[in-house]
Amino acid sequence: MHGKELEFINEAFDTNWVAPLGKNVDGFEEDMQNYLGEDMCAAALSSGTDAIHLSFIISGIKRDDVVFGSDLTFAATVNPISYIGAKSVFIDSDYESWNMDPKALDKAFEKYPGAKAVITANLYGTPARLDEIARICREHNAVFIEDAAESLGASYNGEKTGRFGDMGILSFNGNKIITTSGGGMLVSKNEADVKKARFLATQAREPARHYEHKEIGYNYRMSNIVAGIGRGQMLHLDEHVRLKTQIRKRYEEAFSDIEEITLNPYYENSEPNFWLTCMMIDEKSPVKPLDIMEALDKENIETRPIWKPMHLQPVYAGRDFIQVKDGISVGEDIFNRGLCLPSDIKNTEEDMEKIISIIRRFFR
Ligand SMILES: *Cc1c(COP(=O)(O)O)cnc(C)c1O
Repeated sequence: MHGKELEFINEAFDTNWVAPLGKNVDGFEEDMQNYLGEDMCAAALSSGTDAIHLSFIISGIKRDDVVFGSDLTFAATVNPISYIGAKSVFIDSDYESWNMDPKALDKAFEKYPGAKAVITANLYGTPARLDEIARICREHNAVFIEDAAESLGASYNGEKTGRFGDMGILSFNGNKIITTSGGGMLVSKNEADVKKARFLATQAREPARHYEHKEIGYNYRMSNIVAGIGRGQMLHLDEHVRLKTQIRKRYEEAFSDIEEITLNPYYENSEPNFWLTCMMIDEKSPVKPLDIMEALDKENIETRPIWKPMHLQPVYAGRDFIQVKDGISVGEDIFNRGLCLPSDIKNTEEDMEKIISIIRRFFR
């Protein structure tokens, strides 16, 4: 938090707009539209997960439809597929961005030609092959949902993430590049879809004086208090990306002479927001991610494992998983050999030196 957030909250208190609508909600949506491009519309919601849920409903996904989802991601990307009773099929990653591999997606459409939608995450703020994935979706008449929850501020081919799908998903959860404590947005160039999201998120109340309902609604709208935090945070989004980029550069520099360490890669035509810097250890190295995590933990420094792939999750046992080559999947390999490094923008140079020296000790 920087300070301006509180001013927007105070304004909501002073005007007594303490509700899931008001000037801050409108203002936050406008700020995001301006940021992503004037051709975009945004609906502020209570979480990114809600935004994903609504995107599937708006896309007309029904029970038993097949939906393809990233395998290597946070569970929130794909859980809403199950909320509507659709069938999730998980798609393996590539080594170039750790995101959904377009070749595996092609293969999935061969097996399930009638699949209705694809949801792709931009992992750790790194854009996926978004143009290619969008093209494959168009070819198969499938809806493309871009889960940009981790990648606000990143771009691909000079275009901001969140703009590539039929609908884009943003999150302002406590850990994201900007936060409102909790919150999310559904964004799209299609104004009708965004209006529909606002409608479904406010209990699908028809515009009649009495309480008229023709559809099942949800209580998913963002509160005007929370949106005030968002307006304040928007003023610092570019700064957050700049600081995250500095952290990434610091790690790059620090490990440049250690062949066993590679950092989470990205496509040349993309600019990640570097939400998290992650490392991967060479398969020939005896060092395991857990060794490093434990050594850092002893110094009270928190690290996180890579997201555990969805096809390995007990809750998704029995779901289909599509990979390009047989053997260990790319996602599982990254999970086994990878590690998320401390990437907080409040890290001082002293913090960074300490983290780096502990990690370097393993590779002497
Ligand atoms: C955080 C996150 C979400 C969910 O957002 P919430 O606002 O926490 O519900 C979805 N997908 C990914 C990839 C995320 O990291």
